[in-house]
Amino acid sequence: MKILVVNAGSSSLKYQLFDMDSGAAIAKGLCERIGIDGAVTHKRLGKEDYKAKADLKDHKAAIELVLHLLCDPQLGVISDAHEIGAVGHRVAHGGERLRTSSVIGEEELRYLESIVEINPLHGPPAISGIKACQSVMPNVKHVGVFDTSYYSTVEERAYIYPIPYELYERYKIRRYGFHGTSHRFVCAKAMEALGKKDAKVITCHLGNGSSITASIGGKAVDTSMGFTPQEGVPMGTRSGSIDPTVVTYIMKKEGLSPDEMEKLLNSSSGLLGVSGVSSDCRDVLEAQDKGDKRSKLAMDILVHYIKKIIGSYVAEMNGLDALVFTAGIGENDGIVRDLICSDLSYLGIEIDNEINLTCKRGTFTEITKKGSRVRTFAIPTNEEYMIALDTYSLIK
Ligand code: ADP
Repeated sequence: MKILVVNAGSSSLKYQLFDMDSGAAIAKGLCERIGIDGAVTHKRLGKEDYKAKADLKDHKAAIELVLHLLCDPQLGVISDAHEIGAVGHRVAHGGERLRTSSVIGEEELRYLESIVEINPLHGPPAISGIKACQSVMPNVKHVGVFDTSYYSTVEERAYIYPIPYELYERYKIRRYGFHGTSHRFVCAKAMEALGKKDAKVITCHLGNGSSITASIGGKAVDTSMGFTPQEGVPMGTRSGSIDPTVVTYIMKKEGLSPDEMEKLLNSSSGLLGVSGVSSDCRDVLEAQDKGDKRSKLAMDILVHYIKKIIGSYVAEMNGLDALVFTAGIGENDGIVRDLICSDLSYLGIEIDNEINLTCKRGTFTEITKKGSRVRTFAIPTNEEYMIALDTYSLIK
């Protein structure tokens, strides 16, 4: 059976078509600049990429084009859209009610619409993507796979903020956590290697957005992102956690509105804000190498916060079996992995830097130093495959 995985953004739609017999993605691509001057990139295994301008007035036009390309005699990989058995949708936020991957019907859509207020950036495009796909492919099931649902096992003490409880009851202000599909995938991969059912694992998803998750036996116990992806470690352009009073103080001093303040914390902070150079870790490292002091400071802060979270999760779980790195920085950047893992021998974390600095990107690599108590891995994440698997098992 073939499963189509769709990830709809405000002006983009990413897709991957999986053959569930082999587990391979047989085609994938991206529709971008939807509603502007549309373009599409379509890739197939072992063949040249197809790139073209396209008239994409909305998500519906985009998914129609995707189906057309997938079934095209020259560019396609299937002969008929009916070969697609189901569609899996990446949805960032499932709120408190959608706690596991679910078939999306009217009720689920209504619920997703009701929580747009707490998910204003990612909610509307995800809903619009699902509706578009449902209208173009009405005869197959559409499954929502939520970034938040991996955290349904997190206990209240870790997800309720210590603020008046009525605010949680009134507005559902609590910690939700994000990147769950990625953490779930790489944690499962590490667990396979460990061969230990109740393994204590910390997974570091370090990309443009970064989060760290602690899991025991493949079940999340805590995670660094909270009510929004703003909480936790510093990121490319996001501050991560800061003293909340800093927020109100800046607003008063600079005369910023709530939206302007959110923008400052979301888009002008983190690596970019401190270095003043870039949000991209590679640029900041390069500037640091050339002697730029603020770039070094930005990297030092990033590493400092990541170490603090790792330490706190070891305390929370009372132990650690494996530390995992994934996503753009985590998978590719041996220097950052080295900075994070150095001086963690008290926690039993020691890495073999020769393997760490030379390991090939995109491959599952163990970077543990011989004799180290905790095992450390760099594992390529594959959220799309996880979405396809969930979708497949739900409709089977
Ligand atoms: P997103 O959160 O947007 O999915 P990614 O997971 O692609 O982001 O991560 C983007 C980050 O990964 C950037 O900071 C970039 O510097 C870093 N990155 C990507 N490739 C490499 C690489 N080869 N070496 C070092 N860092 C990399």
